[in-house]
Amino acid sequence: MSEAASPALNLPPDRFLSCAHCGITFVWTGWEQVQDDHEPEHCPGCRHLLAMTRRWGVVKWFDPRRGFGFITMADGSEVYVRRRDVARGKLRRGALVRFRVVEGRMGPRAVGVRVQSSRRARV
Ligand SMILES: [Zn+2]
Repeated sequence: MSEAASPALNLPPDRFLSCAHCGITFVWTGWEQVQDDHEPEHCPGCRHLLAMTRRWGVVKWFDPRRGFGFITMADGSEVYVRRRDVARGKLRRGALVRFRVVEGRMGPRAVGVRVQSSRRARV
């Protein structure tokens, strides 16, 4: 059972991380590290819960040509957003949006983004 992985993969050792949300210690396995080298902030349980939670934010900026931008969340942190993850409306600077956050390959990413108000702070 412990020899399930091919020795040729040469997996890094498992690491123990502390969940930023609930504080428990969880294992980040060598296999997971190879799949996605972005260190997870949250334990698998919280990751699942957080991915289900809808949040509020304001579009910090969005580049329609390049199709991506950033949303500022209520706690002041920023999350990456791509046009393909916008479910409703057009993203403009200052627009109020509702969305969920998932852990992507490049870090946290907003998905299912819905524009609630397109009132802009500035053009
Ligand atoms: Zn947790």
